[in-house]
Amino acid sequence: MLSSASRLLLRRSLGPSPLASRSSSTYYSRPLLSHLLSSCPRLLPPADPEAYEPLLDTADKFTADHGHLDAILDAEEPTFHPPAASSPAGVRLSPSCHSLVSSYIAAGFHCMDVSLSLPHAVSTAVSAATMSAFTGGALGHSVLTSCAALLLDVHGSAELKERYHAKLVSGEYLGTMALSEPAAGSSLATNVRTSAVARPDGAYDITGDKMWTSGADHDLGEHTE
Ligand SMILES: Cc1cc2nc3c(=O)[nH]c(=O)nc-3n(C[C@H](O)[C@H](O)[C@H](O)COP(=O)(O)OP(=O)(O)OC[C@H]3O[C@@H](n4cnc5c(N)ncnc54)[C@H](O)[C@@H]3O)c2cc1C
Repeated sequence: MLSSASRLLLRRSLGPSPLASRSSSTYYSRPLLSHLLSSCPRLLPPADPEAYEPLLDTADKFTADHGHLDAILDAEEPTFHPPAASSPAGVRLSPSCHSLVSSYIAAGFHCMDVSLSLPHAVSTAVSAATMSAFTGGALGHSVLTSCAALLLDVHGSAELKERYHAKLVSGEYLGTMALSEPAAGSSLATNVRTSAVARPDGAYDITGDKMWTSGADHDLGEHTE
């Protein structure tokens, strides 16, 4: 265990606080990422590096510009608000979290894999670069939303796609994933008990309990699904 005097000496010998001098290279290795993309043909259909390197440049800049928010997000915990006459119960996220997610959407990273139909390896590399700076789950909202939009692409009815797809991809709505249940975590395939029974009017009666639903009922998007 270092004494506080030793910690001070160590910090002086290391130079300024890492927070003051962080760059994207602090968070991940860009040369390694580019190397993996260009030299692993099994990861990527043939693609011209000139087509994806500019995306990595943009991701690099985003990380360098916003990485300092990570420590602030860690300090600003979300708060739970019980139901009131004017609003339902919900979770309020901090101004820094709102600002980071809005910047991410404005920079075009949100649901990039859905909207640009990028090869999976490229969209994963871009996500790895942008998310490398954030130890919490703030940008995970976009991952959950991509998953919801991709699920709609494959399994959604025309009506559901019409209602949700464009709004998920634009970031107006954010997605969640309600899979785990009190008696079903790793064993989803066999232990899920929730059922959905179709009614004559086209709606469903859903019975069961879900838990561990990250990103539900918060105020980042207009609507969470
Ligand atoms: C912060 C957080 C956020 C989450 N967000 C979501 C979410 O958004 N949506 C959602 O649906 N779920 C979410 N989850 C739930 C998460 O996916 C489950 O916690 C996970 O599926 C594990 O289930 P469990 O906790 O019930 O553990 P269990 O499945 O009970 O596992 C307990 C232990 O047994 C081990 N184990 C399990 N099966 C086997 C096996 N067959 N052989 C050997 N060992 C085994 C596991 O490795 C583990 O160590 C979240 C969890 C956390 C902690």
